Amino acid sequence: MNILAIGAHPDDIEIFMYGILALFKKRGDFVSTIIATDGSLGGEGSKKKLIISRQKESTLALKEFGKPYFLKIPDGHLGDVIDHKYKLKKKIEIIKPDLIITHHWLDYHSDHRNLSKLVNEIASHYIPIIYCDTMMGVNFNPSHYIDITSVFNLKKKSISFHKTQKPERFYNLIELMNSYRAAQCNMPKGNYAEAFYFEKSFPFSSVDKHLPNLTDLIKFDIKKQFGFL
Ligand SMILES: [Zn+2]
Repeated sequence: MNILAIGAHPDDIEIFMYGILALFKKRGDFVSTIIATDGSLGGEGSKKKLIISRQKESTLALKEFGKPYFLKIPDGHLGDVIDHKYKLKKKIEIIKPDLIITHHWLDYHSDHRNLSKLVNEIASHYIPIIYCDTMMGVNFNPSHYIDITSVFNLKKKSISFHKTQKPERFYNLIELMNSYRAAQCNMPKGNYAEAFYFEKSFPFSSVDKHLPNLTDLIKFDIKKQFGFL
């Protein structure tokens, strides 16, 4: 399959969807990435320098999937002008993905929300979309959980390339979020899951067959307390 991940800022793909992308790649799928904004609000000092540094960081962090496409939309202003939609549309038409992964429309940051809406409009009834988890899972009710335990360290490593962003705080974030999502599936402690949401719309009724490492059913057993409960 041809998978396209679209993140709003230079570190979003790594934080919210790296696990599933690594699993797609492992399975032999083709993965490409688009980073919509230039990330120029993610730090102090010269914006120009920060944009260049963040591009370098993303290129290293996502190298498993080839070089990311940078749309360089000003950070904090995604969706302000119609040109942003066309920029995005043009790239999606070149890549021709079978499946898109992007932010949820109720996420915390306006760039995430606006990107989600734009991608939804562009993909329309042509390309199915799965939406990644929101920051701290707020306003997000997953439809799919992906077991990313086997690639969790790769995810952490990809985040480590974002030196300008003090990556340690994101280690804490993914530890918390991906453990919590694993716990929701009654997976044993030390396991990790990423959560996604797929909304049915004609002609796409299901994506289940195409997702890697969907979490298994694990019955709750009070006598065998191997999980979080
Ligand atoms: Zn972001």
